Amino acid sequence: MRKKIVAGNWKMNMNLEEGLSFAKTINQYFDEKPSQKTEVILCTPYIHLNGVSEIVKKGKVALGAQNCASEDSGAFTGEISAGMIKSTGAQYVIIGHSERRTYYHENDALLNKKTLLAVNNGLKVIFCCGEVKEERESGKHLDVVRRQLQDGLFSLSGSDMSKIVIAYEPVWAIGTGLTATPEQAQDMHHYIRGLVKEKYGREIAEDLTILYGGSCKPSNAAEIFSKPDVDGGLIGGASLKKEDFVAIVEAI
Ligand code: PEP
Repeated sequence: MRKKIVAGNWKMNMNLEEGLSFAKTINQYFDEKPSQKTEVILCTPYIHLNGVSEIVKKGKVALGAQNCASEDSGAFTGEISAGMIKSTGAQYVIIGHSERRTYYHENDALLNKKTLLAVNNGLKVIFCCGEVKEERESGKHLDVVRRQLQDGLFSLSGSDMSKIVIAYEPVWAIGTGLTATPEQAQDMHHYIRGLVKEKYGREIAEDLTILYGGSCKPSNAAEIFSKPDVDGGLIGGASLKKEDFVAIVEAI
């Protein structure tokens, strides 16, 4: 049975004190819910990683970063490597978020490099893909996502692929209040699983967790998560409020 996951992407929100206090609240909540089987991941800004790692160490909540460098080490001022992220105790890193693709011009080749570095440094990767509004409207969304996966991800070996979580995030739904319909999410997730099956075989495809992301909230989460190929969510805005985030996790 593949893993159900809800990951919160804090983006560039909360100072150190606010982030640690929020992580404590979330960690405590899920520690008191031993029956909760969904994996909960907090993807924090870099500055929170070490502190949040201490907070969640003995609990059930996992920790991730939102990006990593495309080089292993050296003279890259301001960058944070996959190895450094791993050394904080984090287990995950988000790669290929649409905000990185758009604002920092990260292309498929660069994302492929980052993904390989992350996996080689012992991190699991939440690899994001998704089309913009014009691509959906012109019926190119399947081709766009296929190219993102082929060029960004499919150079991985089968055993490395088992360390990947794919997040389908239609760009037109991120932070906009617009959400893909449960049918649109299911169709794309089914398509993605099919591509992975073609490349890596049935077992790896069936074990792959595919998350939906894009204006997921307590009022729409249960319906989206009820689809057979939707294995959870990557949550932005709603991950910053305890009540909303918890309700989304519990919607699974
Ligand atoms: C995200 O940042 O990955 C995301 C899905 O954001 P939001 O939930 O705010 O649309």
